[in-house]
Amino acid sequence: MRNEPNQNQAGIESLADLLRKKNHFLLLSHVSPDGDALGSMIALGDALRSLGKNVKLFNETGVPSRYSFLPRAAEVTGRLGRLADFEVAILLDCHSLKRAGVRFSQTDQLPLLAVLDHHEVGDPVSAAVTVIDPQTAATGELVYQLLITMGVSITPEMATNLYTAISTDTGSFNFDNTTASCLEVAAALVDSGARPWDIYRQLNFNLPPERLRILSQTLGGVDYYYKGQLGTLTIDSEIMSAAQIYEIDTEDFVSFPRSIKGVELAVLITENGGGVCHVSLRSQGRVNAAAMAKSFGGGGHRNAAGFSISGSAESVKSRVIAAAASFMPREEDRSLYEAEP
Ligand code: AMP
Ligand code: MN
Ligand code: MN
Repeated sequence: MRNEPNQNQAGIESLADLLRKKNHFLLLSHVSPDGDALGSMIALGDALRSLGKNVKLFNETGVPSRYSFLPRAAEVTGRLGRLADFEVAILLDCHSLKRAGVRFSQTDQLPLLAVLDHHEVGDPVSAAVTVIDPQTAATGELVYQLLITMGVSITPEMATNLYTAISTDTGSFNFDNTTASCLEVAAALVDSGARPWDIYRQLNFNLPPERLRILSQTLGGVDYYYKGQLGTLTIDSEIMSAAQIYEIDTEDFVSFPRSIKGVELAVLITENGGGVCHVSLRSQGRVNAAAMAKSFGGGGHRNAAGFSISGSAESVKSRVIAAAASFMPREEDRSLYEAEP
């Protein structure tokens, strides 16, 4: 392993101290969880249990089918129970309570809070211990450092969850957040029993057939704006409800407009029931997607960010295109937003 000073070590040590002292934990991750949110939460839960602690894994919107293969995914529950039963709540892969779901934005009876996250810092909830490192590829990498600091021996189940966390957040070790350090952690996880091919297969070759139907219905609707620098794709609620699938099953559709030459910012608008859309933004590096998402009350990373917003897909699309003007890389292109053939 490379021997570099670790920026997070002091925070990780304080978190480890807190975890050693307490016994009843509530682990929380963001709604519509991805591989990092779930893998980080499940692995940390296993580790705390291996130390004899009592743990509940909570996610308000549950485990999407794509991630149900994760060892112990079935232990993630949408039933919170009594908050008074927990001494510490640990918020993973996000840093505001609103991201953990509506129940947390509405309560003031929370236990002591800890935050472990890697998103660009917006407005983190005030917590007893906060470790947020935007330089880290995935929250799973921070969980790995925490487990090593605590002397936990990594089981194959923990390794599978943490490898999934890191590989999904780095686009299978291809995105620009892929560092030597995250590759080293991934190698150590393989040594501890994670099987890259099995995990890749479960994630990518195990999808419901409805996915292809939706893809064929939506791909014809890719539009380009700002001289081809903005590519958009919309999935309206009719398509979504006909297919009865979770939002997460379509999250990587954004890679289609993103794959086109000249596209600096790709946008996927998914219209969920109840008049709310989820908007995913992906940048090639020149557009700050996190700043743009923040201007709509969301967040994320420079190259991958998102937000939820009320309105029809059509009205949201117009607002997003108009807002994108000020984020376009070249000033002379900022007033052009007619759809292009
Ligand atoms: P998505 O496009 O939903 O896959 O999200 C891309 C990135 O932005 C992920 O790191 C998410 O955690 C983050 N993100 C998505 N939606 C929100 C939101 N409403 N608020 C803050 N961060 C978000
Ligand atoms: Mn996430
Ligand atoms: Mn993450």
